[in-house]
Amino acid sequence: MREMADQVVARCIDHIATLDRQPSCGDVDPARAGDLCRSMREAAPERGTPLDQLLDPLFRDWIPRSFTSAGPGYIAYIPGGGLYPAALADFIADATNRYTGVWQAAPALVQLEANALDWLREWMDFPPEARGLFTTGGSMAIFNAIVCARERHLGADIRAGVLYTSDQAHHSVLKSAKLAGIMPDRVRPIESDDRFRLRMDRLQEAIAADRRASLAPFAVVSSAGTTNTGAVDPLDAIADLCAREGLWHHVDGAYGAFFYLCAELRTALRGLERADSLTLDPHKGLFLPYGTGALLVRDGAALRAAHEATAAYLPAAPHPEDFYDPSQHSPELSRGFPGLRVWLAVKLYGSAAFREAIAEKRALTLDAFRRVAALPGIVVDAPPELSLFAFHLTWPGATRADEDRATNALMEQVTARGRVMVTGCTTHGRYLGRVCILNFRTHQRHVDALVDDFAASIDSIVAAETARSDRS
Ligand SMILES: *Cc1c(COP(=O)(O)O)cnc(C)c1O
Repeated sequence: MREMADQVVARCIDHIATLDRQPSCGDVDPARAGDLCRSMREAAPERGTPLDQLLDPLFRDWIPRSFTSAGPGYIAYIPGGGLYPAALADFIADATNRYTGVWQAAPALVQLEANALDWLREWMDFPPEARGLFTTGGSMAIFNAIVCARERHLGADIRAGVLYTSDQAHHSVLKSAKLAGIMPDRVRPIESDDRFRLRMDRLQEAIAADRRASLAPFAVVSSAGTTNTGAVDPLDAIADLCAREGLWHHVDGAYGAFFYLCAELRTALRGLERADSLTLDPHKGLFLPYGTGALLVRDGAALRAAHEATAAYLPAAPHPEDFYDPSQHSPELSRGFPGLRVWLAVKLYGSAAFREAIAEKRALTLDAFRRVAALPGIVVDAPPELSLFAFHLTWPGATRADEDRATNALMEQVTARGRVMVTGCTTHGRYLGRVCILNFRTHQRHVDALVDDFAASIDSIVAAETARSDRS
């Protein structure tokens, strides 16, 4: 056992120690990746293979052929984390393999998970009666939230129910709604304003129209930081409206919720703490490895009502006011032990370290924003509300199509330089470049590289585009 673990740990440490020097995006060219994947297909092996022979191709050939999402140059999409001690927590959880689905099976271990959930609750200023669950990610958190809202407001009469969100919402909202029985014809993607925030006037009109049509508005899903541009919806105003109209307000904080720990961003996120339910994604803003999302539900009874169940072969669940029982608050019974990685990371480093890291990402973003905005040809479409900003390239005589092509080329060329990986999005009818800083390994020198690589690429792209329009 020790020998196997030593081999694995040595390779992991090598990998992590060289993240800074690995290309920000490995070779994921679809044609080459397709060939590789086809060549890897094989039947289940009849006999075993020594561990080192399995680790060789894994670390040499397969891990490098990916987005380097654990690296400091990963400024694409919404960055993830990958704190090393969380991997050790998973190792402990898997090696000891205790059953944490029900409280009675491992009361003290379940208490650690309950503590970790309670820390999230306190950080987000949710009341003591709130309860939550750890999920595999933000998508499953939203799914559970919609089920809670549906149960509370619609009961068996699902088809009349209408859910509202913005046209900037993460695609997991529509997907989760469908999984929860709310079909796409009962989801209203409300228009966003020129800052990509949900428009209150349009929301109110849509609710009124649905009531006139004898439908049953039941929930609003707002964003505390959209994936496209980082927009924060008017959370406080939506909370007021939901209170007035008797609707469930879910806040998707998968990207943005942990910025609530940052004193200077409390105002920007005001109203988040009033939500009926909140998605958090510790595998983004708490820097944990992929596989940890979380949901908080203001009224813990609503979460239990949607999930509690008994069976003759199971021990009786504890009284909910005494102890937390995971199986009474989530769809799962047997499961891994996701609470341990959260608990270990927070205990090991302390909350202050996480707050400071979040504040550092915010400060780095403001610096990157000022410097990128000052580059020739850059027009900012969305300044950073949290740690994401969006922009496009322009020059005299450029058409919308020219701008889209050039901005897309800028993202690709900067990424091809290998130091940072950036991606864009298409919204409000144009292609936008994006910068999103959230990886705990990203520091000032990576922002410097980002700005340098943008400056170098812009010059050549605009020169090429101008020559192109001169020719035509
Ligand atoms: C990442 C993200 C999600 C989905 O979360 P997963 O963890 O990827 O399932 C939902 N909403 C927003 C705003 C996100 O950034």
